[in-house]
Amino acid sequence: MLYLCATPIGNLEDMTFRAVRILREVDLIAAEDTRRTRKLLTHFDIHTPLIRFDENCKATVAEKILQRLRAGESVAVVSDAGLPAICDPGADLVRLAIDAGIDVCPIPGANAALSALICSGLDTTKFLFAGFAPKTKKNRRELLEELSTVKATIIFYEAPHRLKDFLAELVEVFGERVAVLARELTKVHEEFLRGTLGELIERLDEPRGEFVIVVEGNHTTPPIEDTPLDFYRKLLEQGLDKKLAMRETAKRFNVSRRDIYNTLLKEDTQ
Ligand code: SAM
Repeated sequence: MLYLCATPIGNLEDMTFRAVRILREVDLIAAEDTRRTRKLLTHFDIHTPLIRFDENCKATVAEKILQRLRAGESVAVVSDAGLPAICDPGADLVRLAIDAGIDVCPIPGANAALSALICSGLDTTKFLFAGFAPKTKKNRRELLEELSTVKATIIFYEAPHRLKDFLAELVEVFGERVAVLARELTKVHEEFLRGTLGELIERLDEPRGEFVIVVEGNHTTPPIEDTPLDFYRKLLEQGLDKKLAMRETAKRFNVSRRDIYNTLLKEDTQ
């Protein structure tokens, strides 16, 4: 079994009882940063052997881990903080394990994106996790343009030294929107900054600590290119009956059905 084991994102009290038990019971723990994880393990009196599994060594180490899993041992993957496989190499190991027919099991717990979202006050019914935007300007711009029409709330991760520039790019592509910066979640200096993207840029002096950016989705109505008559006819072509097409046309152009009816009559008789 390969366990995907959550660890705290700042506050050690967020470690779950189950995570402690699983980390004690497995044969091996694969950790992104063994020094950091060792401190966590010491705190919880866990003495399971550790192996480093990060971006640089993942190709070679993954094979070693898979060998042990195939031999019937159990392994837990932990990331630096939060849920493994969210913006860390754990995701690759999960895919390899599944391909090798090995069972994977989540040990849920803290996660920065969802913790920020639930405190954002923005729409939580539909959201899109975008993680870290690409590093190169061209790729970042392409992604932001793609995301600019998304109606769901969007969640980004960003390093503090890039935060202001990233917010500026967001305003450029998304336009002015409400956003929330969730800083240092679960830590002593936890803070939520709320405002429009432009306001947030002005309020940020020298961003320090870890940030999640939650941005409201695109709620603007696309520009109306059709005349009411064109729109009404299109709806008829799409199979709507006259009554429904009239109602939708009235709604779309924010006028009464009588007005629409009169316009249609007039245009039809011209
Ligand atoms: N696996 C982690 C999770 O489940 O949230 C995310 C790891 S990702 C490499 C690190 C990024 O997550 C940081 O750059 C920051 O954007 C966000 N993050 C992690 N801990 C945070 C915290 N305590 N407060 C705010 N953001 C945090």
